Formats: sequence, C-alpha cells, structure tokens
Amino acid sequence: MRIVPTTQRRGPALDVAVVGGGMVGAAAALALSRAGFSTALLEAHPPSAWHARDEVDLRVVGLAPSSIVLLEELGVWPSIRDARACPYAHMHVWDAENGAAIDFDAADEGRDLLGYIVENNLVQWTLWQSLEAAGVQRLCPVTVKDFETRADRVVLELAEGESLAVCVLIAADGASSPLRERASIATRGRDYGQRAIVAHVTTEREHARTAWQRFLPTGPFALLPLADGRSSVVWSLPEAEARRVQSLDDAAFLNELGIASDFRLGRITAATPRAAFPLRLQLANTYQADRFVLLGDAAHTVHPLAGQGVNLGLRDVAELRDTLVAARDEGRDIAGAHVLRRYARRRRSADTLDAYGFDALARIYAWQSLPLTVARGLGMRMLDRLTPLKRRIAAHAAGL
Ligand SMILES: Cc1cc2nc3c(=O)[nH]c(=O)nc-3n(C[C@H](O)[C@H](O)[C@H](O)COP(=O)(O)OP(=O)(O)OC[C@H]3O[C@@H](n4cnc5c(N)ncnc54)[C@H](O)[C@@H]3O)c2cc1C
Repeated sequence: MRIVPTTQRRGPALDVAVVGGGMVGAAAALALSRAGFSTALLEAHPPSAWHARDEVDLRVVGLAPSSIVLLEELGVWPSIRDARACPYAHMHVWDAENGAAIDFDAADEGRDLLGYIVENNLVQWTLWQSLEAAGVQRLCPVTVKDFETRADRVVLELAEGESLAVCVLIAADGASSPLRERASIATRGRDYGQRAIVAHVTTEREHARTAWQRFLPTGPFALLPLADGRSSVVWSLPEAEARRVQSLDDAAFLNELGIASDFRLGRITAATPRAAFPLRLQLANTYQADRFVLLGDAAHTVHPLAGQGVNLGLRDVAELRDTLVAARDEGRDIAGAHVLRRYARRRRSADTLDAYGFDALARIYAWQSLPLTVARGLGMRMLDRLTPLKRRIAAHAAGL
C-alpha cells in the first residue's frame, strides 16, 4: 500500500489526527471518522496486506466480546470473522504445581462464545481497507517527528518536511510511544524479565475450540485455538530460558512444547518458526495533556497472561469516541481540557485495575514455596466452585 501524504498548511484544522495505524489507532481513526469528525491517520509503516493463502500471522490476539461489539459497529467484523477467525467457547486454566484447575464455559455465562482468536494483521488490514470510504485522510508512510501545541490547534511536524494542524492529537503509537515522550508523560511499571515465545503448532488431538493455559513456575504457557485446526503457543519464560528455548533445534523444541503443555493435546508434531516478545507492565501516569490523548499500548502494556492488551486498547477507542461525540452534541469544544480529562480519568482507572490485577496474577503464579502453592491450589479450587464470582470474572474479561 502506498498513500501519498497530503499537507494542510492553512485553513481550519482537522478535528483529530491519530498517530499510529496499528489495530488500536486504525480502529480509532475509523470510529472517529464514522462519528462525523474530520480525521487523519498517520502511520510510519504501510500495513502488510492479508491474504487467505498466506501463512497465519505469528501475532494473534484473543478478541473479547467488547472488542467484537466495537468492530461490528465499525462494520468490519463480518469480514474479519469470515476471513479466518477461530471462535472459542471454553477456557481451561491449570496449575502445574498443584494440579488445581478452573474452567470457564461460555454456556455458563449464557453466551455462545468467550471470544475469537484472530491474526493481528488481519484485523489491522481489514480496518485499513475501510478507512478511505469512511473519509479518513491516510498519511502513510510518514513519521511524526514533533508537535507544537498552540491556543487553537496542535501542529504536527512530519519527518518528510510536511505539517498538519488538528484540534486534538491522539497518540496510538505503541508501547515506546515517541509522542508520549514528547508530551513529557512519564510511565510506571516493571520489566517482567520475561519473553513470550510464539509459534503455531500442530497437535495430536484437536483443540476443541478451547483456550488452554497452564501456569508453570517459569511463567504461563498458552495454547490458543486457530481456525485451521492448529494452536498458537504463547510461552512466557525468563529471558535466559527463552533464549535457550529459541535456540533449540525443531525436534527438541517440539519435545519441550509437549512437556510444557502437559501433553494436554497429545504430542506436538510440527511448529512454525518462532518469534519472541519482551514483556513489560507499563502504565502512563496520565492519558491526557493539552489537546493530546494517549490510547492503546501507548497508554498501557500488560502481561499477555489474560490476553487483554488490545481489548483494553479497543475499550479506549470506544470511550474516546463516546466522550467526543457527547461533547460535540452538548455544543462543547472537543479539545476542552474537561472533555479530554473525562476520557483519560475513566480509562486510566479501568486500565489500572486490570493491569495491576494481571500483575498480581503473574506474581501469585510465580510463588514456588510449598505452603504458598498449596494455598494457591485451594484458592483455584474454591474459585472454580464459586459460580457467581467466576461469572463476574468472565463478565469482566468480556468487557460487557
Ligand atoms: C506475545 C503477545 C501476545 C498477546 N496476546 C494478546 C491477546 O491475546 N489479546 C489481546 O487483547 N492483546 C494481546 N497482546 C497485546 C496486543 O498485541 C497489543 O496490545 C496491540 O498489538 C497494541 O496495538 P496498538 O495499535 O496499540 O500498538 P502497535 O501495534 O504497536 O501500533 C503502533 C503503530 O504506531 C506507529 N508509529 C509509532 N511511532 C510513529 C510515528 N512517530 N509516526 C507515525 N507512526 C508511528 C508504528 O509504526 C505502529 O504501526 C499480546 C501481546 C504480545 C506481545
């Protein structure tokens, strides 16, 4: 995809510019444009085209029902679902140390499904396909180098020498967000000292549309169901261990995968090449500055054990759209500090609860002393029987 940059030096500023066209930024641009705001999306790297004949993208995500609702509102969900998405209705979580387990079943929640596993580039590409018709100005490939906040607008400077004036600047530029840094917004969190190894694998037994997650003393190991019958492995390991596992030959890798999965789906007979991603808990101290907001990984990154990163980002998108629409309908300035603060407060408090909740789980499952692992097992067994509490957890994860 090649899109020629456009410049807007004079005249009225656009309502919004979204910087970063990953899944969250592209969804934000589409949502805001559909809601009637003049919108530009600026992205440094053209998204790679998704084709059904291509190998399944190594990066997949579990989309929660709240994300599917948003993608449905944006009109892109049927294309994503029909292209290649695997619905799952069960989740089985078990503890390698004490054998305790928790089962989540969509039927217990009165739903058909818990969610869908989909490829990142399928979601991103499908969103991008809808941008032009929705009237989004796509500036790609361009890199936002700097920005200047004035009384009535923000002026973005592009590395390509162009500039663009907007009322509100929305940074969806990923975990290392250059715009967040430029806005002097600090973050807090911790490096997990872990990497998630990902690969798609063929297993002896079928995945039964179930997301399997085993907590090992070294970190969680997940097998997520793929539409073609294979499963996607997300295996979190301490750095050194991750490097060792990455350097194994194929036969040894398959064998270690089988052991890590407790052979729950039988032997693992084939695997794609692997990739690894560093894991960090990171939360921006605020999601808002003058005429500026953060969303997606630019605002928060969380441990993948709960599979919620992009789901939180898409909840940011829905909240931002609803906040800006409400402000406009009440005749208020969409760039007003009260308006942007309202979005920032709501999303940051929700994300903080989730991010530290997932962090607490990561810490609890790292306990290795016998009394603590026994206590953890008792807690899991109790939770599995406490239907109302389990329901609340499932409803929270669904984001509905
Ligand atoms: C192993 C692993 C498993 C995961 N599993 C799940 C899961 O099951 N469920 C889930 O919900 N989440 C999951 N996540 C998290 C999820 O992948 C991320 O939350 C999501 O991809 C973040 O999307 P984003 O659009 O916010 O950021 P990104 O995808 O990082 O997009 C940022 C974009 O900004 C662009 N950009 C940056 N700077 C500039 C600039 N100056 N000018 C122009 N463009 C710029 C970049 O090119 C990039 O395209 C997982 C993450 C990992 C690592």
